This record gives sequence, structure tokens and C-alpha cells, in this order.
Amino acid sequence: MSTPVRTRFAPSPTGFFHIGSARTALFSWLYARHTGGTFVLRIEDTDKARNTDEFLQVIYDSLKWLGMDWDEGPEVGGDYGPYLQSERNDIYNRYRDRLLANGRAYEKDGAIWLRLEGERYTETEYSYNNGEFWTTTKKADSAVEPLTRTIEKVRAEPMRLNDQVRGYVERAEDRDFILFRANGEPVFHFVNVVDDIEMKITHVIRGEDHLSNTSKHVEIFKALGAPIPHYAHIPLILKTDGPGKMSKRDRGALIEEYRSRHYLPAAVRNYLCLLGWTPKDGKEMLPIADIIAQFELTDIHSANARFDEKKMAHMNQLHLRSLNPESFASLAAPVLGEAGIVDEATPEDDIQRVLALVQPKCVSLESLPGFTKYFFSEDYAFDEAARANVSKKADPKARCAALIPHLETVADFADTASVDAAFAAAGAAAGCKATDFFAPLRFAVSGLGSGPDMHPLLAALGRDKVLARLRRFSA
Ligand code: GLU
Repeated sequence: MSTPVRTRFAPSPTGFFHIGSARTALFSWLYARHTGGTFVLRIEDTDKARNTDEFLQVIYDSLKWLGMDWDEGPEVGGDYGPYLQSERNDIYNRYRDRLLANGRAYEKDGAIWLRLEGERYTETEYSYNNGEFWTTTKKADSAVEPLTRTIEKVRAEPMRLNDQVRGYVERAEDRDFILFRANGEPVFHFVNVVDDIEMKITHVIRGEDHLSNTSKHVEIFKALGAPIPHYAHIPLILKTDGPGKMSKRDRGALIEEYRSRHYLPAAVRNYLCLLGWTPKDGKEMLPIADIIAQFELTDIHSANARFDEKKMAHMNQLHLRSLNPESFASLAAPVLGEAGIVDEATPEDDIQRVLALVQPKCVSLESLPGFTKYFFSEDYAFDEAARANVSKKADPKARCAALIPHLETVADFADTASVDAAFAAAGAAAGCKATDFFAPLRFAVSGLGSGPDMHPLLAALGRDKVLARLRRFSA
């Protein structure tokens, strides 16, 4: 039987939680769930000056919001805790002592160094006034007297790593490197590897920016006599336009932003899956169970992914529309409440009816207050872009004025046959198509250019409101 998979997400709480971190966490989580393994959350908070409790809380909240539950880690515990590196110093010191005892580490200038294995030789480097070091005699003709230093190098076998995403990657460390600084603090590489050993991590899934650290990490695993985990370095996320990597400052980069904008977490998570991975049949909107079933590390793309805000918004819209009406209403009603569109006095039935009506047309929960205000209030805004659009064909006031007498003949606006007859009569009288009244009418009664279909809209607003608004608008 093969070893059960253990993956981990190892964030440093030095800033708000951005989509790159969320996607790294997601791929680790997906792989653990796919294999029936364990997903560990470990907090890499050794940089005391830059870590804050606020950022720590944001990590926990964002992971929970995105539905990525961890099996071991802060709050839930586990056999290999504590799960905050700031509480693991005894463990790091124990590993340091092991290396000092077996000769794979030594002390120099107060710091502790890892001794690489291999054939040692020395080289002389020359530094000129610009501070750059040149090996051997490259700048010997310079008029400036060089500073020199002698360095010890190791001709070691280059490390050949079979990365699950990148394929074979070769890289060699050629000189000893520091494990503990002179102030006694362990460096990132050391604590990262010690914890992966202690926490029995089998698969290290992390951002490509760590690929260049991996040769150091492998050397530490080897020095400690520990098995080397599988690695999967996942591609960078590029910003929407331009060549650069998405940074925390880029629009759309922070997970909290989606939360406060009432995005559906399932939609955000679904979109994040697509940043570097493609479902087998190309169907992008998928329930998480299907993604878990399909997700293989070797299917992760090695090319960089590009963040696309519009695609994220579209994914959110698809998820919103696919909710059953009850779920949609339970998410949407509080958004209307918060925006002051409805309150305790608003009849619950009215809210439910309006939400059922708008769900198929709803673009986002964030836009829902503006999209539904006219159902609950006479004080709705008129959208200027919609006004310009609706005015292109004919004067909307004149169109509405021409429609009023015909609609007045209809007793019940839920009676679609009578409503259609009124539109037809109005069209015949004005010499236009019946449907030419739709856009001006919609604009008059809602102030908008889009919304529910015309019949259910008229039925929901009712005769009195529609006629009163038409009269007011066309006056
Ligand atoms: N703390 C590191 C980071 O936030 C994690 C590195 C790793 O996953 O190995 O980038």
C-alpha cells in the first residue's frame, strides 16, 4: 500500500490573503481531498516584525469562506503540532543539534551553516569599487586595486528534481549556506524543511517562486537523512493586462474583496481552480466534488495563468443562476436588507417573489440593490447609460404617453393576453411594432435597461404602479 498523501499550505501572515495564496492552498487541498489524504495548515510566522494577528485571522477566515477545511493545524490541532512556527523553536534547535553532531552543519561567525557534500575547492573572487564580485582574474586589467575574498565551493552532483508540474529541473548548490543567523534565528529554508519532515508531508505544492529554493531544501532533507517529498511548483498568476505577476495591489487580488462584494465563495473557488488547471471535458463550471474527483497534479499547467476579472464575474453569475430559488433568496435577502432596500416592514412574500423573478437576470449580488430597488420604492434612480440607449430609437416619453391609454384598458396586468392586445393596439395606432414599447416602458418603470421579462415584470409591479410611473415619466 502506498503512503497516504499529506499536503500542506504554509502561508506567512505578512499581508492580506490574495488570490495567489488562495490558489496555492486550493491545489494542496484539492490534491489531499482527491487522494483521501490529509491537508495540513502550517503558519510560517518566523518573521516577527512582519506578522500580525490580523493577517493570521484573515487567512483562517478566507480559507473557511472558500470552504477549504484543514485536517490538522491551528484551531483544530493534530499529532504534529504546534502548527505555528513561532512555537516550534525547540524542534528546530533539536534538528540543528543533530546536524552539528553528524558534521553536516558547523558554526562560523556566530551563524550555523549547512556543509554541502562533494569535492571541495577554493576560488578567488575580486571585487571592484562597484561592489560586484568577479571570479578569478576577469578584471585584472582594471586600474583599481581589487578587494579579494576566497570562497570555498563544492563540486556536487546537480540536483535532478522530477517536479510534478515542471518535469525535470536541474540545479546545483555550489556553496554552503546559512541555517541559523548569528542572532540565533533559523532561516526560512531550514524551518520549512524541518516542518515538512516532522509533519510527514508527502507532497509539497507551492508557487513557482519557490522553485529556486528547492535545491537548498533538498540538500537539507539529505543532510537530515529524510526522504525527499514530491514537489509540484504551480505557475504564477499574471495580472489581467501586462506581463507582470499579479500583486497584492492589483485590482481583484484580495479574497476579502470578493467576500465584501458578496461573491459566492463556490464561484470564486471554481474560478481559482481554472488558474492553471483545466477540467478534462472543458466544462469550466463544475461542482467541487467533480473537481476533486478529476484533480491530478500532473494536469496542472506549467505555463503561467492569467487573471481575468471578467471571467471571475461571469463564473459568479453562472453560479448565482444555478442556485435553487430558496438558496438564492437566503443569500440575496440579507444583501437587500443591508442596502436598506427592504426592512422588517417589507412583506416577506414580496421579497421572495421579487427575488425569484430577478434571479435568472441577476449579474451579481453586489448589483442586486440597484437592480431591484424599483420593486420596493418609488424613489428609484434613472440610469443615464440606459436613458441614452433607449432614446436612440424614439423619444421614450412620447412612446410611454402613446402606450398609456391602451394599457389603461387592461384590468389585470397578470393577464398576458390582454396585455399583449394592448401592446398590439398601441403599435397599430403609433405605426410601430408592439415590442418597440418594451424598452421605454422598462426604463420608465424601473430606470434600467435590463431586468425580468416584460410580462412577469408588469404582473409583479401591478396595474396601479405601472400606470402611475408611466404618467409621471411621460409628463
Ligand atoms: N511560507 C512560504 C510562503 O508563504 C511557504 C513556502 C512553501 O510552501 O514551502 O511562500
